[in-house]
Amino acid sequence: MADKRATVTCPECDRRETFDKLATARSFIEAHRAETGHEATWELHRLDAGVERAGREAGVCGRPECTTEDSPLYLGDR
Ligand SMILES: [Zn+2]
Repeated sequence: MADKRATVTCPECDRRETFDKLATARSFIEAHRAETGHEATWELHRLDAGVERAGREAGVCGRPECTTEDSPLYLGDR
């Protein structure tokens, strides 16, 4: 279940990188911007950070055994 959690794409240089930590993805975006001036974008494979935080506060720890990634509603309804 250790899937990559974020995909960073840069349309300007047709680059695509995947990261398993959001912090790493953000660092890549910042470094890429510093190096090239490009505005890379990221696509999160899970919910956005705010929803993810809400899920954690609801008792979902985010570990694979506690997370049903196929169903975002799982976090809110059960
Ligand atoms: Zn680029």
